Amino acid sequence: MATPESEILDVESIRDDFPILDRDIGGKQLVYLDNAATSQTPEQVVDAITEYYYETNANIHRGLHQLSQEASVAYEDAHDRLAEFIGASGGREEMVFVRNTTEAENLIAYAWGLNELGPGDEVVMTEMEHHSSLVTWQQIAERTGAEVRYIRVDEEGHLDMDHAAELITDDTQMVSALHVSNTLGTINPVGELADLAHDHDAYIFVDGAQAVPTMPVDVEAIDADFYAFSGHKMVGPTGIGGLYGKKHLLEEMDPFMYGGGMIRKVEFEETTWHDLPWKYEAGTPAICEGIAMAKAADYLDDIGMERIERHENALAQYTIEQLSTFDDIDILGPSAGEQRGGLVSFTLDTVHPHDISEILNDYSVAIRAGDHCTQPLHDKLGKTASARASFYIYNTREEIDALVEALDAARDLFE
Ligand code: PLP
Repeated sequence: MATPESEILDVESIRDDFPILDRDIGGKQLVYLDNAATSQTPEQVVDAITEYYYETNANIHRGLHQLSQEASVAYEDAHDRLAEFIGASGGREEMVFVRNTTEAENLIAYAWGLNELGPGDEVVMTEMEHHSSLVTWQQIAERTGAEVRYIRVDEEGHLDMDHAAELITDDTQMVSALHVSNTLGTINPVGELADLAHDHDAYIFVDGAQAVPTMPVDVEAIDADFYAFSGHKMVGPTGIGGLYGKKHLLEEMDPFMYGGGMIRKVEFEETTWHDLPWKYEAGTPAICEGIAMAKAADYLDDIGMERIERHENALAQYTIEQLSTFDDIDILGPSAGEQRGGLVSFTLDTVHPHDISEILNDYSVAIRAGDHCTQPLHDKLGKTASARASFYIYNTREEIDALVEALDAARDLFE
């Protein structure tokens, strides 16, 4: 039996920080189980946003006035904070702020991939990749003549590491892999993939969109060359995310976008680039959102990432235990008992995932239904869609009971 979440986190007091959780939807209190898509935002982060606009709002870097200087310092410091949060000892020079994980993927694909890849080169991904990496590298490969290969996912939702060792060869230039699968909940051995990539002088890009919010991440222990995440999945605002890159790689690459803010000197003939990470942040960035994302990291660290990881796993295990009592359910990903991210995707024989989600909404239970941006993985599993319940620091067993009860009602309706 999994440890009750109340023994791991003080969920009751955490919930007090999230006023949205008191929302009434059709006469019932919201049960928010769509956290893998976007997490909710605590008062502390909303206050940081309000305070910024009430006290500090100004453009950065270019102003000598007080507000601009304050905004610049807070925005720059936020880079150091996020670098520290994921174990990057190089500070701001290794932490580029982007809009989201998708933009981070595109930045590396354009800035590095378009220049470095060519016919005969290979990019290795996994069959469980999110469209943000899968489509991006597919397109870059098409343009450069490189080939894309996919590491097999086995029936238990694990990467076939023997297949990985076969696929990653001296032709491989880039491995792009999920840390935690947003569909299966699998935690991938990204450190082992990094070793395989480096044995063949290839780089590894790790998609940490589901990992950074839910477990301690140490990019240096993984030996990731690039690592990406999104603020809106880690109690931060939308429109901001982080791209970690090893300093020497970020120094060697050309910028992705050009314009103001990323230059050192511009002449009619020639332009030189600004220092890291500003070289990759053209134009006015999401200043407030960057500062608020640092506040989100503070909030999560105050709770403790190890404890968050245990809480997530406990809720996922409890959900699997409860759902396993249904005889018409197919739960995707690793089996009960195995450590996994805080999400459970499933299908029912009799009710389509979209119907499940709609009926659950009548019970004010918010989950996601669809392909979760992993269409090829769903194809491989022989499914067009699945339903996904995903958890976070404020979720309780009682909310999972509400999910199970609503699912039962959905089954009755379609019987
Ligand atoms: N990668 C994974 C594993 C995800 O779960 C998501 C979002 O669901 C993304 C990438 C894309 O994130 P964003 O939409 O913030 O760019």
